[in-house]
Amino acid sequence: MTYFEHEGTDDKTLESNVRTYCRTFPSVFAKGEGTFIYDEDGRRWYDFLSGAGALNYGHNHPLLKAALLQYIEQNGAVTTLDLNTRAKQSFLASFDDIILRPRDLKYKVQFCGPTGANSVEAALKLACKATGRSGLVAFSNSYHGMSIGAMSVTASFRRRKEQYLNPSWVHFLPFDGFTGMREELQFVRKMLTSKGSGISAPAAIIVEAVQGEGGVNVASSEWLREIRQLATEIGAVLILDEIQAGCGRTGRFFSFEHHGVKPDMVCLSKSISGMGLPMSLLLIAPTLDVWNPGEHNGTFRGFNYAFVTAKEALQKFWNSPGFADTVDARCRYLALALQAWKKDFQLRIVRTSVLGMFAGIELASEDLAAIVQNECFRNGLIVERCGPLNDTLKLLPPVLIEAEELDGGLRILGEALARHCR
Ligand code: PMP
Repeated sequence: MTYFEHEGTDDKTLESNVRTYCRTFPSVFAKGEGTFIYDEDGRRWYDFLSGAGALNYGHNHPLLKAALLQYIEQNGAVTTLDLNTRAKQSFLASFDDIILRPRDLKYKVQFCGPTGANSVEAALKLACKATGRSGLVAFSNSYHGMSIGAMSVTASFRRRKEQYLNPSWVHFLPFDGFTGMREELQFVRKMLTSKGSGISAPAAIIVEAVQGEGGVNVASSEWLREIRQLATEIGAVLILDEIQAGCGRTGRFFSFEHHGVKPDMVCLSKSISGMGLPMSLLLIAPTLDVWNPGEHNGTFRGFNYAFVTAKEALQKFWNSPGFADTVDARCRYLALALQAWKKDFQLRIVRTSVLGMFAGIELASEDLAAIVQNECFRNGLIVERCGPLNDTLKLLPPVLIEAEELDGGLRILGEALARHCR
């Protein structure tokens, strides 16, 4: 490890000041297996951070690992831009067979640069090109990534830096429940459809069905359906950002499946490779696929290791009959735990929210949330914080977690809540 004395600061670490998670969880991690992550000395944590949603099936799932090792053993091509490879073609065939067609979804698949933000960039650009418009609509507490385009539709102010944004093409409207007012949805409709509201017809409306970084806010079906309807009425592209909520996180492959809506474009990344290997997709309604060849390019759009494990995850999990039921059972258990805590610790728990294996516990203050988070870490559980005030614990256990492991992790959290939230 390299350390150096940086002139003028007392920070002795070579890594940039931008680092964040390693400050909250200051161990040196060595390996991950299933629900657990281990440090160099073999100390074990329940990992309910799950790579911020990139490890929905846990660390190093044996089936995925075996497929990857076999591919490497055969000297399978590693990175190939958008050249055709067997790995890419097999992934596409499985994705169509197992995910798209059974859900009656007809999308073209764009392979983006390997981050979620790059898929968002592609979606915004393509929506502008397809509609010939330049305005965008996004929602309060949204999070879509850290590149400038994605950040311009991000309202999560903890990370937003006005000085390098020109947000003049973006209008923010309240996400479901943001204002607490009964006429919220009518307000959104009025702003989007009335002359003189100051919002001219946008190219796209971008939305998360469950806002992750924004505090685990779950949109209702009524709300999301109305947003779908409004987008259609005003000729805007509806972009669903499924980067964190997708790939089974909410108990369905796509979180919008709970609501019976069909987006025009879908951003998918994080857990799509199944193993935490970088991969990012944009799903595009065929009529909107107006790209010219190479118009949204990028070197790392063809990471075949990710395609191999992504295909394996679809085949081995989403194609297996008992999978959905097992995930549903775990989701119910998590929901019950949250319900009980909300009742027991009502003085300090402001709000709980959950959809599938995506849960939030908003505490009375940022300090309290930090205390509970740190205590969990000391006792063997890693959980993230989120929300505009950083006061919400975000639980992302692997969706494939064993019942006793879920119970074990929740017990650590329950004890910390009992100590600090009575
Ligand atoms: N959208 C959502 C909903 C996300 O949660 C994230 C990542 N937290 C992103 C976009 C950006 O993805 P990435 O960090 O891979 O660029």
